[in-house]
Amino acid sequence: MGVPTWRGHVYLDFRFTYRACGSQGCWKAKDQMWWDEEIAGEMESIAVMCRACRRNERERVEEARRVSLEGSEKKRRRRAEQADAR
Ligand SMILES: [Zn+2]
Repeated sequence: MGVPTWRGHVYLDFRFTYRACGSQGCWKAKDQMWWDEEIAGEMESIAVMCRACRRNERERVEEARRVSLEGSEKKRRRRAEQADAR
């Protein structure tokens, strides 16, 4: 179903394929309206990752951050221990 707007153009549900994983997406007319009017964003940035991919990506980034924090903490502690030993 199209959603008519005060601007006079009509949004239609838009089907596309996500670039990251090739799964099918459907961009609802009302979401397009929100995107267009509130964010003025580009369609391009929507069609890259589906919800599942975005969640995976976020988890991957958080895990990487956690590991790197742990790594630098370990390094700091080792340095402190070496300083004590001297
Ligand atoms: Zn995906």
